[in-house]
Amino acid sequence: MDLELSETQKLIQQTARDFATKELKPGAFEREDKGIYPFEELKKMAELGLMGVNIPEKFGGVEAGVVAYSLAMMEIARACASTAVSMAVTNMAAEIINHFGNEEQKQQHIPKITSGEYPAAAFALTEPHCGSDATALRTTARKTDRGWVLNGTKQFITSGEHAGVTICWARTSGQGAKGISTFLVPKGTPGLSYGPEERKMGLMASNTVSMIFEDAQLPNEALLGDENLGFSVSMVALDGGRIGVGSQAIGIAQSALDEAIFYAKERTSFGKLLAEHQAIQWMIADSATELDAAKLLVLRAANLKENGKPFTREASMAKLFATEAANRICARAVQIHGGYGYIKEYPVERYYRDCRVTTIYEGTSEIQRMVIARSLLRG
Ligand SMILES: Cc1cc2nc3c(=O)[nH]c(=O)nc-3n(C[C@H](O)[C@H](O)[C@H](O)COP(=O)(O)OP(=O)(O)OC[C@H]3O[C@@H](n4cnc5c(N)ncnc54)[C@H](O)[C@@H]3O)c2cc1C
Repeated sequence: MDLELSETQKLIQQTARDFATKELKPGAFEREDKGIYPFEELKKMAELGLMGVNIPEKFGGVEAGVVAYSLAMMEIARACASTAVSMAVTNMAAEIINHFGNEEQKQQHIPKITSGEYPAAAFALTEPHCGSDATALRTTARKTDRGWVLNGTKQFITSGEHAGVTICWARTSGQGAKGISTFLVPKGTPGLSYGPEERKMGLMASNTVSMIFEDAQLPNEALLGDENLGFSVSMVALDGGRIGVGSQAIGIAQSALDEAIFYAKERTSFGKLLAEHQAIQWMIADSATELDAAKLLVLRAANLKENGKPFTREASMAKLFATEAANRICARAVQIHGGYGYIKEYPVERYYRDCRVTTIYEGTSEIQRMVIARSLLRG
């Protein structure tokens, strides 16, 4: 793997870094504190090409590839993890439509995602009774002479309420993984409503809602990919999504480490700077080492995906390691801040909370271990 970034990758990284530093970071505390969804920021990011990093130019994307996407995600997450998760799901939805959609579906939705005409896009797999075991989903889609009728509830959907289009999985026949199909659900679909916004531990400026389908009407053209083969669509999407969440965790952890180093060089105890105590130095050294290892794993998975090679196991390894490491790094950053690490005015308090969910969504750490072990044991 070539570790030297291409000019395009450097450009995307720099674009994301500049935007994150100048426009995203300054308002992050207030958005988080007041639970303000980053409409304006997401729109500007679309204008910069960050809502279609790995999408062909003909649909308004910048066609810069998966490594560039991962680098951009790290930069955005350094400044505001809530915005990063909205960006991640939106890019993921655009990629799914680009991968599995027909020309008409692509023309209908992708340019609206990449241009920011849709504030966001969403991905609705989880249901109230099942997340890890998505094959147990109960939302149904019944075929009629006018299209499809959906009934059921989706849980914890990021940007669900604001998404111009949501990719949604429902059962069209049978049981288990067989008989699940994928649908494109535009905002305003008759019979679709939203639950109240979830009150979360972190990512307060992101939108997390349930989506309720009560005889929701969709046209025939809403079916994405083949009928009954939708489960494999969700698995392909999640493989890519795991690179996004790994990158998000790295961005949050990088900021936590930066803050920890800054604080350790300012604060004194026992007549010395914190940075002069070996215990603190070791925490910083461990964090920096784990962060570098996480970046290498995530960029390896991104590189494999970009080159059309199998990357399922590598994406799971990257997500598992990066998100678990990021949680350790954020915990150490709080520890280095002492009591101030527990106080909202210090950003490490937010990083610690924002980071927590990265080992849970897009497949928990336990599910990543299952994917990795299965792939190894299969031989
Ligand atoms: C803020 C937030 C945003 C989210 N956004 C989205 C979204 O946009 N779209 C979407 O579809 N979903 C979304 N989710 C849902 C998320 O993906 C699920 O919560 C996650 O997949 C876990 O599912 P669950 O909550 O049902 O936990 P469960 O599946 O009930 O798991 C509970 C625990 O049991 C463990 N476990 C389960 N099965 C096994 C097993 N076989 N072996 C070992 N351990 C096991 C899990 O690892 C976990 O620790 C979001 C969740 C949150 C909190």
